[in-house]
Amino acid sequence: MNPRISEKINYLSEFICNEIDEDSLVSNGRRLIEELRDDWKLNRLDFSDENVKSLRRITLLLDEIEDFIFEQQDFQYISSKEEIDEATGRLQYILTNTSNLKIAARINKEVRELLERRTSLPNRGATKKDEKLRRALSTLRSKIHKCNKCDKNPIMVLREGPSSFFWGCPTFPACWGRKFLTKEELSVLPD
Ligand SMILES: [Zn+2]
Repeated sequence: MNPRISEKINYLSEFICNEIDEDSLVSNGRRLIEELRDDWKLNRLDFSDENVKSLRRITLLLDEIEDFIFEQQDFQYISSKEEIDEATGRLQYILTNTSNLKIAARINKEVRELLERRTSLPNRGATKKDEKLRRALSTLRSKIHKCNKCDKNPIMVLREGPSSFFWGCPTFPACWGRKFLTKEELSVLPD
């Protein structure tokens, strides 16, 4: 056993519970875990059973936090009650699997905000206009645009921004590649 390892794990644990910036939380959290993995490869005897247990718990927790951040990215595109229900369902799932009270509080807050938005959103495909839009979108979705911002040139997906639809890279938030709809594509959409 090595007291330095316990110190590192305690530091990591506190960092994850207290860091507010989500990007820093994930990137620095991962880096600290990697460092400890290297220590483990170097000499397993440095780790007590308790150390190993803590590290496993922390890794799981970080996975949960990443799930949460990932789910949040898509909330801005939500446009129907059904989508709210799907999103809150996924958040509830993370919530039931998390042991971190701060994360749980943030997820609860997010769920409350989603439920507030739900009251002012329409049902999916509720009106004739929605039906027209749905058909137009499925026509548009058959078009192929490749993202030219990242290596593998994935086929872009149709997303709804605050003012209009746009083509976005499917790997968002890893890649922020986006394109406006062409005039021809815009003419497909109902007024
Ligand atoms: Zn891309």
